[in-house]
Amino acid sequence: MHVYLHSFIHQYGWIVGVLLLVFLPGCETNPYTHRSQFLLMPTGYMNEMGAAQYGEVLQDPKVVLSKDPKEIEPVKRVAARIIEAAKRSKYAQAAREFKWEVTVIKDDATKNAWALPGGKIAVYTGIFPMAKNEAGLAAIMGHEVVHALAQHGGERMSQGLVAQLGMTAAAIVLSTQGTNPALGELAMQAMGIGVQAGVLLPFSRKHESEADYIGVLLAADAGYDPREAIHIWERMAASSQGAPPEFLSTHPAHETRIADLTSWMPEALEIYNQTPKAPVSELPMITPPPSQKSALKTGARFR
Ligand SMILES: [Zn+2]
Repeated sequence: MHVYLHSFIHQYGWIVGVLLLVFLPGCETNPYTHRSQFLLMPTGYMNEMGAAQYGEVLQDPKVVLSKDPKEIEPVKRVAARIIEAAKRSKYAQAAREFKWEVTVIKDDATKNAWALPGGKIAVYTGIFPMAKNEAGLAAIMGHEVVHALAQHGGERMSQGLVAQLGMTAAAIVLSTQGTNPALGELAMQAMGIGVQAGVLLPFSRKHESEADYIGVLLAADAGYDPREAIHIWERMAASSQGAPPEFLSTHPAHETRIADLTSWMPEALEIYNQTPKAPVSELPMITPPPSQKSALKTGARFR
């Protein structure tokens, strides 16, 4: 049993070290929703990770970047206005520190877009039919940019670290009490499932809701009609009848999402009505391949 204990400390001791070093400055409050956020990772570290991940995607030989100005220009136009809105938002400081970059990935089968910590954004051409026009694209990019600005990735990673620490502690206790190692392993697995279901998934829903809410405020301030966000989820609902393969079961139901967005519209429309309007054109027509399956496997998904 000493061998087990030793190997666990040897393997996971660094986590304890990391937590001890950074536990003190761990909490922040979301400036819009006043939700308390637990953050262990320094933002500089997260931004570096975002940049590295972005570089990996761009260098992936399976990833084809769009060279069509009809696809690239609307994305750049919308991104520029969303970034400007972010720089005068409650996330102004982070938005000014981000090294923003936007790319369009030519993949008509993938209804996806993401923004990484540090401001690297990707839009897949497969999401154009959902966005339909530049105002729809603004709602999607507003949502994604909020995930990055609000440090949702850092929060998830912090939760994961703590969960890992908890499991390590439990395993150490079990192994020192002379319990059968197989039993300890089983307990760890059960805890892992419990942690995922009880802690991580509900937080993910909160992140989605937060990104929806602040995202429509950003899009409105960028001069786009925030009501387009509702239309996107109506189109999503229509296109994913039955089992939606692109989505995990943890996503808020489309109906919940539409109801929430509707309840935030008065606030978003008030901002929109006071803002110079952005030019809005239709996005290029994309016909998704019949299989609806993408060969690409990137972690992030628009949701
Ligand atoms: Zn999201």
